[in-house]
Amino acid sequence: MLTSAGFGDVKLMNDNYSHISDVLHVPGLSTNLLSVNSIVNKDTIVLFTKDCCKLYDSDEFQVRGKVLAKAYPENGIYCLNTKVNMTQSANTATKDKINTKKKNHKCEKSCINTVKNEQVASTQQVDEQLLWHRRLGHLNRVSMRLLKKGLASGIDFQEQEDQSKKCVPCLEGKMTKKPFLQSKNKRSKRILDLLHLDLVGPFEVPSYGNAKYFLTIVDDHSRKVFIRFLKQKGDTYEAFKEFIKMIETETGLTIKTVRSDNGGEFCGKLFNEMLKQKGIKREFSVPYNPQQNGTAERANRSILEKTRCMLYDSGCNKRYWAEAAQTAVYLLNRSPHKKLKNQLPEEIWTGKKIDLSHIKIFGCPAYAHVPSQKRQKLDAVSKKYIFMGYSEESKAYRLSDPRNPSQIIVARDVEFLEEEITNKKESEKGFQLKDILPMSLNFYLDSHNEAMIPHEQNHEEEQVQNEGNEVPLEPDGLQQLQGNLEERRYPLRNRKQKEFPDFVTYSAMHKDEESEPVTYKEALSSSDKNKWKEAIKKELEAFQTNEAWTIVDRPSNKPIVKSKWVFKIKRDAEGNVACHRACLV
Ligand SMILES: [Zn+2]
Repeated sequence: MLTSAGFGDVKLMNDNYSHISDVLHVPGLSTNLLSVNSIVNKDTIVLFTKDCCKLYDSDEFQVRGKVLAKAYPENGIYCLNTKVNMTQSANTATKDKINTKKKNHKCEKSCINTVKNEQVASTQQVDEQLLWHRRLGHLNRVSMRLLKKGLASGIDFQEQEDQSKKCVPCLEGKMTKKPFLQSKNKRSKRILDLLHLDLVGPFEVPSYGNAKYFLTIVDDHSRKVFIRFLKQKGDTYEAFKEFIKMIETETGLTIKTVRSDNGGEFCGKLFNEMLKQKGIKREFSVPYNPQQNGTAERANRSILEKTRCMLYDSGCNKRYWAEAAQTAVYLLNRSPHKKLKNQLPEEIWTGKKIDLSHIKIFGCPAYAHVPSQKRQKLDAVSKKYIFMGYSEESKAYRLSDPRNPSQIIVARDVEFLEEEITNKKESEKGFQLKDILPMSLNFYLDSHNEAMIPHEQNHEEEQVQNEGNEVPLEPDGLQQLQGNLEERRYPLRNRKQKEFPDFVTYSAMHKDEESEPVTYKEALSSSDKNKWKEAIKKELEAFQTNEAWTIVDRPSNKPIVKSKWVFKIKRDAEGNVACHRACLV
């Protein structure tokens, strides 16, 4: 049992990785230990490979390739939710003593670290903060606090003391984060003065309505986002034409300018003529000018990220992506926006205060009342549906009948079973986040020329604000991938100190005494040189006894394969040195 003397910050003699905060000082420990779980909580990504372990800045890290397995942190331990294949273990048991133990060890969940975690089984409580985080499409913590403090009505939750909870969809999304720099463009003065347009797709799977693309329209003044789903790129013209008609009727105003990239869908003859006829000015974002179409691109990114999080969290079929994206837009329009000095886009658009009391978790089961005139005598009074979002027109809910998913019904009298989502364990979710919209974020970014991606501050980041003199944020896991950026505004050392897990699962080893030499020379100059010499002698003797070789003349026409010494320290079950082994390979 080792006791610590306190916390502190440590400076490292390393250009890129020069500072670690909240380091535990343990005088009794002979070697410095670095907990992977602690450093990943400080915006660092750790990658283990056969040859080395690399640390990356999470902003710059990108993952490609297939994920084979995932282990999620639970109180500092990464748990692989899988069962041990008993038959296989039994087969190999005779070869390996460790496997014999495994055979008898009936564990439902095999942990990468073998320390038992008594804290995991905690009582189930409704976490209102997490509930609202989910309802609001995994909104970051600062924006949630702003809404609760009066930016909107109908939202309330207790901020949790315990910040150790992690939201898996949010943590997952963080992997694909790319930095956006601050936008310097001035906001236009009036609604419909300027609209930003962009097209996203094609999606790998069509939605239930057979859409493969979506068109994003952002009003520059209010930052209100509109979304239209398209079966093909060529539908852009029709969709935008209808949008103009609808929006001009609704507002009584006319669109002045439209800005887009010069994608074919925005440059066709019909599209150009329609704008000309309406007297709408065109603006194109110039390729390689990163500042220009940033507003639409940031909105796309926020939509896609929210969509992914909500689909994953609900476990809904991924063909519901269009419904999820529509709900993402609804929620974005009701979240604080930094460019609006934290007002809500919908509030600017309507001039009315926003109420959030009707917001529910996307994808949760919902029972809708069936009106008596539509009911046969023995039919149930209510029917089970999946909650898909909100009807903007009639202040009602959009529900999907799982028996007929392409049909959406709109209902007012609905009862929600949100706890079916909140009580669901990660392991019960049938797919991985990357599977949901495999082409979404990465595809979207890749499909555009990298240089054209606006290196502006991202949309969600725009939605939060530095809260002045307030207590700095703790890493709480409730922050969305983008929202997580806000943490870095505060110096790490000023953050509230995070509790360290009360176990260390690394074997402390004194390097000078017990490390394994890499070369023959190193072995013979180490403090254990006599033990290594003995081991080398044993290996050579074994070759002789087994008559492993015969000495021949060196052939002149054949390449010579070199040999190498490999040195290993064998340990017993308690970790004590059992013997030194040298192998010539
Ligand atoms: Zn989340």
